[in-house]
Amino acid sequence: MADSLHYIGSRTALVLEITTDDGLVGIGESAIYGGPASVVETVIHDELAPRLLGQDPTQPERLWARMTSASHQHGDGGILPASISGLDIALWDLLGQRAGLPLWRLLGGYRNQVQAYASAGFYMEGKDAAGLADEVRGYVDRGYRHAKIKVGRTEDTFMNPLVDMESPDFALVDLGEDLRRVRAVREAVGDDVHVMTDANNAWTASTALRAGREYDRLGIHWFEEPVPTEDRAGSAALAVELDCPIAGYETQTGLPGFRDLIAARAVDIVQPDVIWSGGITPCRRIAALAAAAGLPVVPHVFSTAVSLAANLHFIAALPNSYLLEFDQNPNSLRTELLDRPIEPDARAVVTVPEGPGLGVKLDHETLRARATAPPRTSEAASA
Ligand SMILES: [Mg+2]
Repeated sequence: MADSLHYIGSRTALVLEITTDDGLVGIGESAIYGGPASVVETVIHDELAPRLLGQDPTQPERLWARMTSASHQHGDGGILPASISGLDIALWDLLGQRAGLPLWRLLGGYRNQVQAYASAGFYMEGKDAAGLADEVRGYVDRGYRHAKIKVGRTEDTFMNPLVDMESPDFALVDLGEDLRRVRAVREAVGDDVHVMTDANNAWTASTALRAGREYDRLGIHWFEEPVPTEDRAGSAALAVELDCPIAGYETQTGLPGFRDLIAARAVDIVQPDVIWSGGITPCRRIAALAAAAGLPVVPHVFSTAVSLAANLHFIAALPNSYLLEFDQNPNSLRTELLDRPIEPDARAVVTVPEGPGLGVKLDHETLRARATAPPRTSEAASA
């Protein structure tokens, strides 16, 4: 399958554990989008782990500062915040376990159930507008009231970076066909279902405006990552021009970047991801900035069950969130990795685990069966 730019032939992920000297085990995940797991694994073990080993695990804010401050020469984007994310999540999991509280309660405890949305509608060879409409109607039949589809895999639009991506000829459409796909979905599900579109940074502001005017007519619930993340002015102009809210940007990392997105009013819906943006620690600050600007937070969630659990707890703690992204593609890393899978009920509502911390554990048998490389370990030198 593919989104606008990325051909997805397989899914890989990096999960980790932190063990304390009194035997607690915290779990986390670090995003590896765009690169091999070995790079992030090296940053974790060779750069970050030495700053955590031997420290007090009940101080995630302090340990986040130890990880980021000493690495400031690496900047606040890309691989570094992704690597820190997994360790930070594991530290918050440990704190919840020590406190005997589920993480969502420890972080403030706003709601114990979250509405899920169907994240789907990818491009595939042979899936035309009617096929896409059938797919989305299936999610509605299963209880979903919100569904997101991919847009932007358009060969005929200005400066589409697709030409430089993997498998650029896979399931291509032109802009006219891309708009027909969205119309077909709207007609199939009716006006009562919230339909979202996600361009994954493929369009210029002018192309996004043309598409966005059609989305306005169709009452699209949000338009995600319409332009490249660095085009804040273009995104802000779209947010003014269109009724349709602009959502993003999962490809932004770090608090300063989100501060600038929010200050520029480049987004109407703020989308960090606790496995990618730097962890739960900075995501709480991003959510507070969004709240101060009167904006909702709907995290990006598109990886393993660990990312699902961690983002779910984060959302459930926030007064200014309302929705959980729920990947509809077959993905055994989402369905088989935990001792207790997280699934929506018949109304597409997900109940947040009540066990201490994340309330879930890794299934080590599945991990061993899926592992592509033997796990690395780092240990504190004994005194
Ligand atoms: Mg997205």
